[in-house]
Amino acid sequence: MAKPVLLAVDDDPGVLGAVERDLRHRYRDRYRILTATSGQEALGTLRVLRERAGSVALLLVDQRMPGMTGVQFLCEARKLYPEAMRVLLTAYADTGAAIAAINEVALHHYLMKPWDPPEDRLYPVLDDLLSEWAARVRPPFEGIRIAGSRWSPQSYATREFLARNQVPYQWIDIDEDAPTRELVASLAGEPPRLPVVLFPDGSSLIAPGNAELAGKVGLATAAARPFYDVVIVGGGPAGLANAVYAASEGLRALLIEQHAPGGQAGTSSLIENYLGFPSGVTGADLARRAVAQARRFGAEMLVGQPVTALRREDPYRIVRLADGREVSCHALVLTSGMTVRELDVPGLAPFVGAGVYYGAAMSEAALYRGQDVAIVGGANSAGQGALFFSRYARAVTLLVRAPSLSPGMSRYLVDRIEATDNIHVLTGVELAEACGNGHLERVVLRDGVTGECRGLETAALFVFIGVAPRTEAFAGFVEMDAKGFILTGPDVPRRGSGWPLERDPLMFETSVPGVFAAGDVRSGANRRIAAAVGEGSAAIYSVHRYLQTV
Ligand SMILES: Cc1cc2nc3c(=O)[nH]c(=O)nc-3n(C[C@H](O)[C@H](O)[C@H](O)COP(=O)(O)OP(=O)(O)OC[C@H]3O[C@@H](n4cnc5c(N)ncnc54)[C@H](O)[C@@H]3O)c2cc1C
Repeated sequence: MAKPVLLAVDDDPGVLGAVERDLRHRYRDRYRILTATSGQEALGTLRVLRERAGSVALLLVDQRMPGMTGVQFLCEARKLYPEAMRVLLTAYADTGAAIAAINEVALHHYLMKPWDPPEDRLYPVLDDLLSEWAARVRPPFEGIRIAGSRWSPQSYATREFLARNQVPYQWIDIDEDAPTRELVASLAGEPPRLPVVLFPDGSSLIAPGNAELAGKVGLATAAARPFYDVVIVGGGPAGLANAVYAASEGLRALLIEQHAPGGQAGTSSLIENYLGFPSGVTGADLARRAVAQARRFGAEMLVGQPVTALRREDPYRIVRLADGREVSCHALVLTSGMTVRELDVPGLAPFVGAGVYYGAAMSEAALYRGQDVAIVGGANSAGQGALFFSRYARAVTLLVRAPSLSPGMSRYLVDRIEATDNIHVLTGVELAEACGNGHLERVVLRDGVTGECRGLETAALFVFIGVAPRTEAFAGFVEMDAKGFILTGPDVPRRGSGWPLERDPLMFETSVPGVFAAGDVRSGANRRIAAAVGEGSAAIYSVHRYLQTV
């Protein structure tokens, strides 16, 4: 396959030569380096590449060029290669134009001239952008195929599991593909157990569980060692940050995630308030970066494996996995976060995975292109969901129990929802019933004041209605508050069975010495991504202090 292109554009031959030299030095093995001396010439090059189905990974362009500025060129180039990473080369005086370009052409980065030494000022930026591009744009498909029915909840669960773990697959709906329907019937009986996952080596799995599927696609599901300095339960922002700090500070760290790294944040379509990402970052992207960072420092990661129980055999803390295996450690960090609360509405349960989805369910968005969908919830996650689905659906109806969107939702989201033509907000309504035949077709809404009911045709319902702690596996092991969140530090009861030592519990330490909790699962936590990352990072300081005592 032809190498993807990195295209540099500058009218100054000296600068262009320097860019070309630096790009070739580092990237010529993996990319084709092309140059142009004007925006017009570069557009001509892109048109030729487009005709030949060539791929373009990066556009690196000077802002000041006669005829067409860098931003004007990027604006045109974006129509031809929307996925290419866009970087503007600027002089100090042009930073205003570069900042404006973040919105105008969704600029990915701007670099100040000169960029010497490139090892410090050019390559780290381009490495990061090219890895993001490689994760988004995939070569022609030769991999895993999932054959199932759009209305089979297990087919949805399998798709979602692979998508969240960033494993590419091709989806085949057997209701619309007769040859695959026959293949599936021959493998999985009639009516078939769905989905059937077909692998390039000719093997297949029928309605696999997460751990089985994870093992088959090459994700680690068993620990490499019997013992670790620290084991982290849950791979959301808090757990991933904890793993990065633990491993970077030399601890042997194992992170165990039951589903996919990223946690709740990983389901967000666009996070706009996380420090360092002025144009926002998708949850999937943030998770991918964090996983790469934790692995780079040597943290080990299991996925598709829930932790089902904890016990202590001093000085060891022992973690039991769903497959019955156990791993022991000196320090344990619980970062199991929260889960979306389920809606208790007549008729809804049979449609979960068949038109009703908890959370963002981004893997489903394309299936609802051009259809009408509804979203339940009035907080930020529902607002993000409405904006995300409005890019695919014909119309999105946001169902809110409160009389208005504010103050439950941040102002920036309310403004954006109000400015989006295909989002309709219905306030003061409750979901009374879900109806359909094999999949969701209609919901009944009840007015919160008058009690009057009316129907709403909808192809899908995405539910974002608050969350509950995920602590079932730790019940009876650590002390929790009345709502099931884990007590830490000064909140740990000091009398009775609460705390066994003379010293006070350390910051983030639970009622069991050497067991810590951070992020949303901790009683009193500030349920935000940055807060979870901060707690996960800071908890390692206490882990070190504890390890000095064992
Ligand atoms: C759709 C959505 C959008 C959001 N948008 C924003 C935003 O824009 N800005 C913001 O600041 N916050 C946002 N939030 C809130 C933010 O995502 C959370 O505060 C943050 O993810 C909490 O991180 P955490 O690591 O503590 O827990 P979580 O993210 O909940 O992660 C916990 C992880 O632990 C795993 N786990 C649980 N139990 C077990 C077990 N027994 N064994 C193994 N693994 C287990 C789970 O599968 C999960 O991956 C959003 C939340 C949602 C749902």
